[in-house]
Amino acid sequence: MKNSIFLITIDCLRSDYVTEEVMPFLKSLADQGTMCMHFFSNAPFTAPTMPAILNSQYPLDHPNCFPLPEQETNIARVFQKKGYTTIGFTTSIYLTKYFHCNYGFEHFFDVMKIKKTSIYHLKHTIASLLWKWEWLYNLAEKIYFRFIHKKIKKKVKIPYTKGEKVIQDNLAFLEKYDEKNKIFNWIHFMDAHSPRNPPEAYLKKFKGTLGKEGEQKSVEEDIRWYKASLHYIDNLLKQYMTRIQQKFPEAVFFITADHGEAFNEHKGIRSHPSYLYNELLKVPGILVGKDIAQRKISFLCSSVDIAPTLWNIAGISFQDQKIRGQNILTKKEDKPLIAESIHTKNRGATINATSMDEERKGATATYKIYAVQDKKRKIIYDKINNRFEYYDLMKDPGEQQCLKYSDTFKELKKIIDDRREKRIEKKKEEDRIQEAIADLDL
Ligand SMILES: [Zn+2]
Repeated sequence: MKNSIFLITIDCLRSDYVTEEVMPFLKSLADQGTMCMHFFSNAPFTAPTMPAILNSQYPLDHPNCFPLPEQETNIARVFQKKGYTTIGFTTSIYLTKYFHCNYGFEHFFDVMKIKKTSIYHLKHTIASLLWKWEWLYNLAEKIYFRFIHKKIKKKVKIPYTKGEKVIQDNLAFLEKYDEKNKIFNWIHFMDAHSPRNPPEAYLKKFKGTLGKEGEQKSVEEDIRWYKASLHYIDNLLKQYMTRIQQKFPEAVFFITADHGEAFNEHKGIRSHPSYLYNELLKVPGILVGKDIAQRKISFLCSSVDIAPTLWNIAGISFQDQKIRGQNILTKKEDKPLIAESIHTKNRGATINATSMDEERKGATATYKIYAVQDKKRKIIYDKINNRFEYYDLMKDPGEQQCLKYSDTFKELKKIIDDRREKRIEKKKEEDRIQEAIADLDL
């Protein structure tokens, strides 16, 4: 049983960038602690990953993925019920009270100061007016980057709290606690997310070109900025965890990412739009700290496993039918992994929303995408094209050769069919009730 549990999430961190060159500190932790060799996110971008990380549920277990449903059990609520002080320090707009990420946290600090007049809102409003005409939208985007973005660049601020500030604030807050207190603490780093803005010295180390912040970059240049940002986070992580370990010698840490990042591995796909290829899903899953053995776990694990694992380490036995994950330390078999998301016609999950309220409701995100994989095979069903993609991961780990359906995919396809069917049934039932209510002569 442990008194202090720390969940650290690093936005956009792909597991293949946890290397000696880019993240030497995190790599050393992975070598010392328990590392999941096959750890995956259950969604490709921040908001739909939260049901998995915080609630141990799949993204489409709820109608629109986000915001998080109100009364559900979640990682913090269970810790809180067992007498833990629950503390959250988040840095992204999608990890705010607005999206209900504060549920279960006694102390929660986020970036929630959205002004309706911000450039963010103006851009989204224009985008929402133009998106129906794809060519016009694309043209407007080109004009924006070619002529406008450079001019307003100086005014565009980094829309998240920087890593230095978040660790400083979190450590200051933790001053009043010590090892005798029971603490569950979550901290999120956003610095590898675009617009990336690593300190100059880090950028130079990775041979990035200065002065390109916020501009559209070549893939190669973008990777240099990504690596520099991760290297910066790695240094912060070292400072942060060293201090925490001095103060809480029994601390246990789970370090992971909400999703990966695409660099054109699939033509035209960059950043983290709503696709389910593994460059967007394969992330680190590292457990380290007091009494955590040096071990490599070869079973398939995913974000839904985080909460049950940490509860277990804290000596909390918690059972609930809705919990999808399992303690990674006691896994005995591979189960197929599920990843899901929602998106709009132009693949953005939220870009068509005219306001944060719509965005929060996922109001315009009408398309669903499902994936299921084991170590050998993978299927993706994409509602936008109403088509399945089949991959042989042994021969084609990069998911480049889409195969025809064969019986080897039968078992995985059934999982996707069942999940789709359940959603359709649920929707029919909701529609039936709504119609019946509308017919009532009240
Ligand atoms: Zn994210």
